[in-house]
Amino acid sequence: MAHHESVDEARQVDVVVVGSGVSGSSAAMTAARHGAKVALLEKLDSFGGSAALSAGMFWTAPTVEAYRTRIPMGNPELGARLVGDYQAALAELRASGVRVADEPKEAIMTFGIGYSTDIHGILAWCRERILAAGGQVRANSPVVELLHDGRKVTGVIAREDKDRLVRYEAGAVILATGGFQGARDELTRYIGPNADRLMLRSNPGSVGDGLRLARTAGAGGTTAMSTFYGHLLPYPVDRFRQEDYLPYSQYYSGSTILLNMLGERFTDETEGDELLNQAVTFQPQARGVLIFDEHVRSTEAMEEPFPGLGATDRFATAVEAGGLYAVADSLPELLDKVAVWGIDRQALGLTLDAYIHTVASGGRVARGIKVSQTARAPQQGPFYALMVQPSITFTFGGVRTNTSGEALDHDGQPISGLYAAGADIGGLSNYGYAGGLAPGYITGSWAGRSAAERAASGTVRDRNAVPLRAGHLSTKGETA
Ligand SMILES: Cc1cc2nc3c(=O)[nH]c(=O)nc-3n(C[C@H](O)[C@H](O)[C@H](O)COP(=O)(O)OP(=O)(O)OC[C@H]3O[C@@H](n4cnc5c(N)ncnc54)[C@H](O)[C@@H]3O)c2cc1C
Repeated sequence: MAHHESVDEARQVDVVVVGSGVSGSSAAMTAARHGAKVALLEKLDSFGGSAALSAGMFWTAPTVEAYRTRIPMGNPELGARLVGDYQAALAELRASGVRVADEPKEAIMTFGIGYSTDIHGILAWCRERILAAGGQVRANSPVVELLHDGRKVTGVIAREDKDRLVRYEAGAVILATGGFQGARDELTRYIGPNADRLMLRSNPGSVGDGLRLARTAGAGGTTAMSTFYGHLLPYPVDRFRQEDYLPYSQYYSGSTILLNMLGERFTDETEGDELLNQAVTFQPQARGVLIFDEHVRSTEAMEEPFPGLGATDRFATAVEAGGLYAVADSLPELLDKVAVWGIDRQALGLTLDAYIHTVASGGRVARGIKVSQTARAPQQGPFYALMVQPSITFTFGGVRTNTSGEALDHDGQPISGLYAAGADIGGLSNYGYAGGLAPGYITGSWAGRSAAERAASGTVRDRNAVPLRAGHLSTKGETA
């Protein structure tokens, strides 16, 4: 059925924003500030998407060079503009009166810089600004169709209160639906069969609607389709609710030795947990084992990874959650216990011996796998082992866009009236991670501004070309 033939109601706005996470909220607020009449539509019954579940750390790469070094496969134009706009975004947030920490936190995810923020305050402030400018903000309103006339995007169809269809006619549409991590079929298509094992560490509404809708208007995809953000979790876990997302994350894994189910190392552990999380996904059974000593357990595994997150005993929490673990006074004893999990004891011994010997001798490679200069071997017991599994918070691939937030087709040409922001944009992060909240807020502001300008100019042009006719809008009752 073509939904636009039988809608219950039609509304006219300048800009429709699809999704109320940090990028959609920023996009809608920015568009409203640039004079647009805005509708911000959210699928779920609450606002804020994954941003509302987040730790509130507003961070990204400190310099363009740092972005390029850490994320060599990232889109260099998007990355440069992101870093360039970061200070202005921070200044805007500070001016709003929402809490932003005075002191920066450095080395976030090994290389980033950022500030702890009141993310709920930021989201609420955006919604207040939209309403104050005469805009609409609606929950329980999934966008189910993108309208376009072959030349330009003309609006969307949203479903309200479960079955009422509302057509929004708009000069511009911004897709900010938060990525496709909730769509198992698409994860398998892009990431491979082990994607079935990824634990979903996200709001439940981000199931790829933005990418699917954009493709119906001819948008292209990007690089990075098989890479994603997430953290290692204990394996198995009895349950995984939203309140478990932060305490179960094993942020300190970069200070452990990480083995696969064959008893082998497979990556440089010091790359950091969000990269190890991806590497584990492609190992047998998508599982790994962290091995560490009392020093790591009592320091990094107890510290708060971000200010404001609170210090948790992550190992104890993992054990309580049901994770497989072992504790022993010596490393050989620990490996005996780990072997019971079905991992070859001899392989475990060879891998550990080679690693410890390489670190002690200042070597750089152990059994073919890089050992970083900063690697530290386990020293004093008790020694610990924890089985881990990967999770997915959002996907790094998405809609192809330029630095104005315009959606592009596969030839690189803008799709008139269509924009994307946040996790719906692809290629800004690619294997390496450039942050979620700050990139969302900043790319939202690119799209919001461009969309407001396009809607303002498009309205005049379209009115001249096609005068609106009375009775132009059909309703359910009228179209048999
Ligand atoms: C536990 C956790 C902690 C995190 N901590 C941090 C942190 O400290 N710092 C950081 O930088 N990042 C963090 N992140 C990541 C960050 O939250 C995301 O990167 C960011 O929220 C992405 O913004 P977004 O606007 O693209 O998507 P989201 O914030 O996820 O919002 C997308 C919204 O779109 C809605 N939607 C989807 N489809 C439709 C549709 N068809 N119609 C209408 N609405 C739709 C969804 O329901 C959702 O509400 C964290 C994430 C999690 C889960």
